Amino acid sequence: MCPGCDIALAIEAAAPPQSALSSLAALADGAAQTSLIPAAAETGPPDDEGPLYAARKKIYPQHVTGTFRRVKWLVLLVTLGIYYGLPFVRWDRGPNAPSQAVLIDFPGRRFYFFFIEIWPQEIYYLTGLLILAAMALFLMNAVAGRLWCGYLCPQTVWTDLFQAIERWTEGDRREHLLRDRQPWTAERVARFGLKHFLWLMVAWWTGGAWVLYFADAPTLVRDLATFQAPLIAYVFIGLLTFTTYTLAGWMREQVCVYMCPWPRIQAALTDEYALNVTYRYDRGEPRASLKKAAELREHGAPAGDCIDCLQCVHVCPTGVDIRGGPNLGCIQCGLCIDACDAVMKKIGRPARLIAYDTDINIKRRQQGQKAFYRIMRPRTFLYAVVIAVVSAAMTYAYATRRIDGVSVLHDRNPLYVRLADGSVRNAFSVRILNKNLEATNFVLKVSGLFDAAVDVIGSSTYSGPYPRIEVGPDQSRELRVLVTATEHIAAGASIPITFTVVPEAGGAEVSARDHFFVP
Ligand code: SF4
Ligand code: SF4
Repeated sequence: MCPGCDIALAIEAAAPPQSALSSLAALADGAAQTSLIPAAAETGPPDDEGPLYAARKKIYPQHVTGTFRRVKWLVLLVTLGIYYGLPFVRWDRGPNAPSQAVLIDFPGRRFYFFFIEIWPQEIYYLTGLLILAAMALFLMNAVAGRLWCGYLCPQTVWTDLFQAIERWTEGDRREHLLRDRQPWTAERVARFGLKHFLWLMVAWWTGGAWVLYFADAPTLVRDLATFQAPLIAYVFIGLLTFTTYTLAGWMREQVCVYMCPWPRIQAALTDEYALNVTYRYDRGEPRASLKKAAELREHGAPAGDCIDCLQCVHVCPTGVDIRGGPNLGCIQCGLCIDACDAVMKKIGRPARLIAYDTDINIKRRQQGQKAFYRIMRPRTFLYAVVIAVVSAAMTYAYATRRIDGVSVLHDRNPLYVRLADGSVRNAFSVRILNKNLEATNFVLKVSGLFDAAVDVIGSSTYSGPYPRIEVGPDQSRELRVLVTATEHIAAGASIPITFTVVPEAGGAEVSARDHFFVP
C-alpha cells in the first residue's frame, strides 16, 4: 500500500469514533442526496454529473516566522543575488578574451565560466553537467524529498518574492482576504496597482539580467538604455518579463501542481526512508480544539496535540493540508513546520508535530520502538558514486585537454582525380583549432605517402617544404587541402595518411588520420 493511503487510513483510524447512530444518520443523509435511480426528468447525458474542471481557489498564504522561513529567505537572497549580480563579475583572461566571468558568447561560439572555457566541440561537458544536475536532484530527493522544490527552484524563489511584495502592498492573509471582498475603493486600486507595478519591475529586472549573460554586461546595459542594443535583446527581455510576471505573480502553485513534471517523477523515485515534511499523526490524532482536548484528557480519553487551528494550512503557499498525508501539491518548503511549532509553543506542547520525518518512524513510534534514520542507503550511495565519477571524469578531461587540435574530412565527390601527368589528387577539408589567446603559426605535414605534394588553397607561405597556416587567437580555421601523389600506387588502393599540425614556434603536435584513394 502506498504511504499516502497508509497515512490516510491511520488518520481515519485515529479519529474519534462516531456513534452508530450518527453514522447511520450520515448514511441516510448521503442516500437522500444521492438517488440511485434518477427520476426520468433528471436522466440526461453524462455531463449532468457536473464538470470535471474545478476552478482555482485563490490562496492567501499567511506570513510566518521560524527556522525554515529564515532558511528560505537566506536561499532567496543568495540565489537572486547570484542571478542578478553574476553578469557584472569580471575575470581576467588576457588581452584577446572577454573579461566577463560567466558569458555565453554565441558569436564567438564559446561558453566562459570563470577559468573554464568550453568550445562547441566540447559540448559533451554539457552532457556531463546535465547528468550531474539529474543525479544531484535524485540525491536530494532520496535524502530529504523535494528540497529542490521547496527552496531552490526558480518558480519557488520568485513566487516567494512576489508573495512578499503582495503582503507588503495588500496586507497579510486576513487583511488581504477582507480587502478582496470589499468594493473597489481608491485605496484598494492604489494598493493593487502598486503590487502589479512592483511585480512588473521585478519581472523586467529578471528578463534584463538574463540577456546580460549573452554579451558584455556593462556594454549591453549602456546599449539597452540608449536603445542601441540588438532587437533580439529587447525581445528576450519582453518575453522573460511576461513569463516571470505570469508564472510567479498569477500562476504560482498551479505551475507546481499542474505544469511541472518533477512531482510525478519525484513520487516515483522516493522511498520510505526519504525524509519528508510529515504530519506526525501518531502525536496529533485524535485532533480536537484546545478546550475539547483538555476535557478529553481530564476524562482520561485520548486527545492528540493537533488543535485543528489550521495555521499550517494558512501559511502553505500551495494551500495543502499536510495532515492529509503525502500530497503532490506539497513542495516541502517546511513553512507549516514553523507555523505549527509556533502553535505548539503557545499551547505548551512539544515542537515538531509537523517535521521532516518518515512514515516508517511514525509506525515504529506507535509500536514503542525508537525512530531511526537511514541516510546511507543503496540508492543514495549509488547517486553519490555517479556524481563523484562524472565529476572526476569531467575534471580529468578538462585538465588534460589539448589547447589546439586538427580534424580532417575527405571530399566525397569526387573521391580522387587523376591529373594529366598521371598523378592522383585527393582533396580534404582540414580544420585547425587554436585555443591559445595569441595568433599562432602552424606547419601542416602529411605523412603516409612516399612522395606527395601538399597545397593549401588560399595560402602560399611555407615553412621549408610544408605549408604554414596562421590561425587567429582563440579561433579555428578551415582549410581546403590538396594532396597530390606522383608515385605509382596500385589501382584501387586506399592508403592511410596522417595530417600533423605543429606550432611553428615549437610545442606539442596534433594529428588526424584519413585515407588517400587511388582510382
Ligand atoms: S498548525 Fe499544528 S495544531 Fe494547528 S492544525 Fe496544523 S498541525 Fe494542527
Ligand atoms: S504542506 Fe507544508 S511543506 Fe508542504 S508546501 Fe505546504 S507549507 Fe510547504
